[in-house]
Amino acid sequence: MQYRINPKNGDRISALGFGCMRFPKDDALTADLVRRAIEGGVNYVDTAYIYPHNEERLGAILAGTGLRDRVHIATKIPPYLVRRAGDFDRLFATQLQRLQTDYIDYQLIHMLTTPESWQRMLDRGVADWVAAKKASGEIRNFGFSFHGGGENFLHILEAFDWDFAMVQINYLDECDQAGVVGLERAAALGIPVIVMEPLRGGRLAAGLSPAATKHWQEARDDDGRAHSPAAWALRWVWNRPEVLTVLSGMNAADQLDENLRLADQFGAADAADTLSADELALYARAREALQGDDAIECTNCGYCQPCPRGVNIPLCFSLYNGRALTASSSKMQYMLRTYGANAGRCNACGRCEPKCPQGLAIRTGLRRVRGAFEGPLYRPANWVAHKVLHT
Ligand code: SF4
Ligand code: SF4
Repeated sequence: MQYRINPKNGDRISALGFGCMRFPKDDALTADLVRRAIEGGVNYVDTAYIYPHNEERLGAILAGTGLRDRVHIATKIPPYLVRRAGDFDRLFATQLQRLQTDYIDYQLIHMLTTPESWQRMLDRGVADWVAAKKASGEIRNFGFSFHGGGENFLHILEAFDWDFAMVQINYLDECDQAGVVGLERAAALGIPVIVMEPLRGGRLAAGLSPAATKHWQEARDDDGRAHSPAAWALRWVWNRPEVLTVLSGMNAADQLDENLRLADQFGAADAADTLSADELALYARAREALQGDDAIECTNCGYCQPCPRGVNIPLCFSLYNGRALTASSSKMQYMLRTYGANAGRCNACGRCEPKCPQGLAIRTGLRRVRGAFEGPLYRPANWVAHKVLHT
């Protein structure tokens, strides 16, 4: 494992971090993956209060094994559950109890999007609360995760004495959300950056269009070597010197093994800024190939769920993108997998849209899904297919 040094406090952090949001359902498999990752050198694990049962599961894996002291735990408080100052203590106490620990290494405010969203936290006394928790040793570093526009990122970044920031960035998002501009400003302020969604919810690995797949199949680095699309994507993020660690939501052993290998190969601090002009041009061409795609930019985070009408929004978008990008999703697959949760159930109430960190026009997206998959015979055919296959 390669490590990078946190410029704020000297912590030696693994280039690869474990993003727990996409833990597999199976507890034994999850525990095995986390333990193997730690044995492989991973020392940063990221969870959040709102990931269902996630803090508890991580706490159970680490407890009583001696592993707690080998990792930096990052977790997040959701701002919308903080209505008064006392809520910080209440939520934090729950986190400690779930994680079976008495301190958090990297505590975040989750998903800030605008200066106003941060101001609301200040109004509820977050600055005094953090100062007290740091003084007691219960919080070691305090940061925020961000999903918003670039200007807002800069504003929030400069509005507090942050220890770190967590952003979504990958070669497709170079100019989106915090963007490269945000990374550079963070570095100028001495604030390390944790990266989430380096593969855009897996889309830059397995969900590529035929054109983008062909592009990466033919691409060679300066030494004439081919790499997988995931390797190219991760390498782009590790090439940024501002990045402290890259989170990956690994839910299978082969994925973990590949990421450990890639972190070794590309994750070192001195591997940053080593992509040549020719190699960077390969990413530009991949972007062109991808941006020509008719995809909905959903990262499958699930924050928009549950929908009162039962629509499985991320699944609908994933199947739509699969169809548009890889031609791998058929109408039959859509029909069977979204039974009772299909796009056509949406009544356009709009409740999901404010919850989407990508700012997606979900209702419009679902209309596109419906147009692609749900023709006039959809309902009777769906009913028949379901009866035949499930009764
Ligand atoms: S707009 Fe549609 S998908 Fe979103 S919450 Fe309402 S019914 Fe569900
Ligand atoms: S629509 Fe938005 S909130 Fe819902 S899963 Fe996709 S990115 Fe996440």
